[in-house]
Amino acid sequence: MRGTVSLGSSGVLRFACVSGCSAPCCHGHAIALSPYEVLRLGELLRLSSEELEERYLAAHYEESGVPLLMLERSPCRFLVEGRCTVYPARPLACRLYPAGVSWKGGLEFRLSQDGRCPGMGRGEERTLQEYILQQDAWVYIKMWERWVEFVERAEESELSANPLKQVFLKILLYNYDVRMRDEPASPEERFLHRIELAEMLVAGHHQPL
Ligand code: SF4
Ligand code: SF4
Repeated sequence: MRGTVSLGSSGVLRFACVSGCSAPCCHGHAIALSPYEVLRLGELLRLSSEELEERYLAAHYEESGVPLLMLERSPCRFLVEGRCTVYPARPLACRLYPAGVSWKGGLEFRLSQDGRCPGMGRGEERTLQEYILQQDAWVYIKMWERWVEFVERAEESELSANPLKQVFLKILLYNYDVRMRDEPASPEERFLHRIELAEMLVAGHHQPL
């Protein structure tokens, strides 16, 4: 896994979620979920990958051929009466909000300037590192980092010219119902194992299905 996290000495935020807020943060653009995030949602909701996709997600293929599952948020379908119904398995973007992370040769954290959130500027000042720990987000960040690394490699491959491989790749990455032989048990190890297989598939070294 590449890169180190540099939070920087100025990485502080003052934020406290406001009780009774109508959660405008859960209305907005769709989020692309990593297979790890999809797996965690599926485990929490006890849904098959097919049911989860049908009920809550939208499949999308990037121009590069990389398959993605999108969580539409207009508003998010997991938002019920102003509350997140998948809170323990909420995606990374939701965990970090009002902070966000991107990859630019290393992890870069930013603070949202979303004027709709009444929680901005409230509560105690915390370092970004403290906030990430409180949100139990480190493992999600590590899995997301590995996912970005895979996507970048796949984008440099010939995947866009091979629709069949794209379909295999989607099954390999997002179909968690069937356990493969010797597949690890924890969601993290499972995800990392699948990514390794996906990399071999993209590179043309492996036909897993
Ligand atoms: S908009 Fe801000 S205060 Fe309201 S639910 Fe979202 S994070 Fe909390
Ligand atoms: S998953 Fe939960 S926190 Fe994230 S947008 Fe949906 S309702 Fe909001």
